[in-house]
Amino acid sequence: MENIVIIGNGIAGITAARHIRKNSDKKITVISAETDYFFSRTALMYVYMGHMKFEHTQPYEDWFWKKNRIDLVKGYVTAIDHEKKELRLKNSQPIKYDKLILATGSKPNKFGWPGQDLDGVQGLYSKQDLDALEANAPNNKVCKRAVIVGGGLIGIEMAEMLRSRNIPVTFLVREDSFWDAVLPTGESQMINEHILEHHIDLRLGMNLGEILADENGRARAVVIKETGEEIACDVVGLTAGVSPNVAFLKESGIELGRGIKVNRFLETNIQDIYAIGDCAEQHESIGNRRPIEAVWYTGRMMGETLAQTICGNKTEYKPGHWFNSAKFLDIEYQTYGWVFAGGPARKEFEQHFHWRHATEKICITIAFHKETEQFLGINTFGIRMRHEIFDRWLTEERDIGHIIEYLKDANFDPEFYAQYESEIVSKYNSEFGTSINPQKKSWKRIFSNV
Ligand SMILES: Cc1cc2nc3c(=O)[nH]c(=O)nc-3n(C[C@H](O)[C@H](O)[C@H](O)COP(=O)(O)OP(=O)(O)OC[C@H]3O[C@@H](n4cnc5c(N)ncnc54)[C@H](O)[C@@H]3O)c2cc1C
Repeated sequence: MENIVIIGNGIAGITAARHIRKNSDKKITVISAETDYFFSRTALMYVYMGHMKFEHTQPYEDWFWKKNRIDLVKGYVTAIDHEKKELRLKNSQPIKYDKLILATGSKPNKFGWPGQDLDGVQGLYSKQDLDALEANAPNNKVCKRAVIVGGGLIGIEMAEMLRSRNIPVTFLVREDSFWDAVLPTGESQMINEHILEHHIDLRLGMNLGEILADENGRARAVVIKETGEEIACDVVGLTAGVSPNVAFLKESGIELGRGIKVNRFLETNIQDIYAIGDCAEQHESIGNRRPIEAVWYTGRMMGETLAQTICGNKTEYKPGHWFNSAKFLDIEYQTYGWVFAGGPARKEFEQHFHWRHATEKICITIAFHKETEQFLGINTFGIRMRHEIFDRWLTEERDIGHIIEYLKDANFDPEFYAQYESEIVSKYNSEFGTSINPQKKSWKRIFSNV
């Protein structure tokens, strides 16, 4: 019986395992150094915030694995011998494989800051990081202030977590406006305001210079590079992005860039070794996508795709239209298609229509082609939209006029929520000199494929 070994029990590795089991009788072993069972990394924050217990982040009961003949091994793989088709593990016997799937995820970036390895300095990625945060910042008596370094999605989550225990937070963000490499100006500025309103001491355009230690080797303060200001703190959160967890593969003969290089079939340069999820790096980007996509749903798609190939139905990874969702404190964010902030990724033909509510933190930005008017993508904040509708409009290459006219079809908020489409359409009409009449929501249209 063919022996499939998967390193990593995150969304990518576990999806591959489940789908290989669905489609075959192969022997499946999943190795992970982090936890016994798969859990939802995106829910880690809610454990610290007291909304759920860690066990609730595990979508499958403990018996699921045995019943489905997926062997789980807790251990750290130190090396791969691809000639012998064998893995070496720390503190346990080598494991043989016929096919190997690398799904080793990411690790938080550290940029060689003085003091980055002191006690009290930590990232927010793993279950161990969650435990460390619980120990380092149980309350605002033990942790009188935390400084978070790096203004992305994980940084803002960490700030929200600490604020939920009334711990004062200073947030150092290198950019001049929050996440402005990704968000267009209006949206980024709205999130700046929102962060400040949540009593987070947001410092824009500021870098970490160094972390100072007390006499016991614990972090006691950070120094801001630009100003030399010293900020006393008990915890430093390093959230300046993540990078693929591939250091243990350096001597393996597997081609590495920042991540593990793969082709469209998720194959590495070594036969019978594949890579999926955060650790995989496409040789060539797919459309506008980045070669490494450190997001949950792409890990799941890669796992599903590779399971097909492993089970004899060789399948290319085709992720379809880009989408993602996240949360900035209590503002929900969704993105479908491409809305570029600026910089080289934004083509000169990309035009934006932006609407923001007069008083609430609600806004949308629609990107479209200046000449052809083709709809390119949408960002929404505080309004939930229907994924399938935007996916369809992107596939059908609809123009901006169509999106504006039928925007009510895309709204996914419950009926009793305030609706803003009429206001959005009237702003669009006055900005672009059009007289589009917003169509009433039609369930028939929503559920038809026409
Ligand atoms: C706090 C937080 C919030 C997030 N929120 C979102 C969100 O809202 N939306 C979104 O799309 N994405 C989000 N992400 C990103 C998302 O969680 C990741 O993209 C996804 O979990 C990656 O899955 P993966 O299976 O590739 O790897 P991982 O989940 O990282 O799993 C890899 C596993 O492999 C193990 N491993 C690595 N090397 C070895 C080795 N040598 N031996 C043994 N085991 C090893 C690791 O310990 C780990 O358990 C968030 C991430 C974090 C940290």
